[in-house]
Amino acid sequence: MNDFPARAVVDLGAVRGNVRALAAHAPTAQVMAVVKADAYGHGLVPAALAAVEGGATWLGTAQIPEALHLRRVGVTGVRILAWLYAPGAPLREAVEADLDLSVASRWALHDVVAAAREAGRTARVHLKVDTGLGRNGLVPAELPDVLAAALAAEAEGVLRVVGLWSHLAFADDPGHPVVRRQAAVFAQSVAAVEAAGARLEVRHLANSAATLTAPDLHWDLVRPGVAVYGLSPVPQVGGPERYGLVPAMTLEAQLATVKPVPAGSGVSYGHEYVVPHDTVLGVVPLGYADGIPRHASGTADRWGGPLQVGGRRLGIAGRVCMDQVVVDLGPGAAEVAGDRVVLWGDGRDGGPTAQDWAEAAGTISYEIVTRLGARVPRDYVDTERGDLSVTALTTVVGGAA
Ligand SMILES: *Cc1c(COP(=O)(O)O)cnc(C)c1O
Repeated sequence: MNDFPARAVVDLGAVRGNVRALAAHAPTAQVMAVVKADAYGHGLVPAALAAVEGGATWLGTAQIPEALHLRRVGVTGVRILAWLYAPGAPLREAVEADLDLSVASRWALHDVVAAAREAGRTARVHLKVDTGLGRNGLVPAELPDVLAAALAAEAEGVLRVVGLWSHLAFADDPGHPVVRRQAAVFAQSVAAVEAAGARLEVRHLANSAATLTAPDLHWDLVRPGVAVYGLSPVPQVGGPERYGLVPAMTLEAQLATVKPVPAGSGVSYGHEYVVPHDTVLGVVPLGYADGIPRHASGTADRWGGPLQVGGRRLGIAGRVCMDQVVVDLGPGAAEVAGDRVVLWGDGRDGGPTAQDWAEAAGTISYEIVTRLGARVPRDYVDTERGDLSVTALTTVVGGAA
């Protein structure tokens, strides 16, 4: 193992296979793999490369620096869209790095035009419409004006309006009427923008949930994020296996301490859990500093977030601490310090998943993997091509240039 007694093992073969599966769900669209937030905690560069190998022709990031980092390590030959920035963002660098940029407000258009002039290059712009999410984007009423300004800049050669796009508020609830309402507003916006003379290369609306459940919303490009990492965006409809996806991340740790305690012993802060009989406790060296949600603490009569130890499905005893959690291994348990504990993985052997943790903490699986702490090392394997050492990975990164 590593110096750190826990690690996230990320299967790049799973990422590649998930992108292939998503492409098969959306055969008429291109796939943009969303790799924001360190690829939902999986590691930006390795995940991005695996996604491209799986057939993604676009990558998507929220922040511009995430996209610039990909270019800096040699991820070229693939389009990268960055969509969230504030005044003062490195737009000139973005244009020089051949990124695609979202424009979601008037000031953004103004600043992208200025950046493109400074760079002496044509910026590629995707106008974002707020069709009803109520977040970022031009409201339909301001679209004509901003479009006119963008097309004027296009006539000068300063930019190209290559895309029109939007984001859904209820994609994870496939029958919800707001999905249809947003889809209609988007279709009207596309028609208006094209009638005004824009020659759009890509019109895009679908996140993971819409990619998997709403084929009529695929348009020219789908933007899956969480499904790239093998997690279901619609767990109430079906798990990853239903969609041909495999969770890519396994979080495992080594037991730091194993010790027998007598019945009646209190466990962890506040003694929320009191062992009902003589038992053996194990200390797992991961806590909320590492992204283990404190909301998944155990209570007096119920274990918290699930753990697998020696093939047994157990759970957190008592409160989640900053650096550690405790597990009741049961009377006579044979484990010793150093033994492996799995917190979440692909679940195919009946082990716990990020979705199980989401349910234990009252959140979504996205948050479970994305909040995995920076101090937990990420190790990479490739179940399609055999193990990939860290050295081999460096070669892959270099080779992508
Ligand atoms: C994060 C994000 C996505 C991906 O969403 P998933 O639900 O993870 O598939 C797509 N588009 C935008 C604008 C996003 O912010």
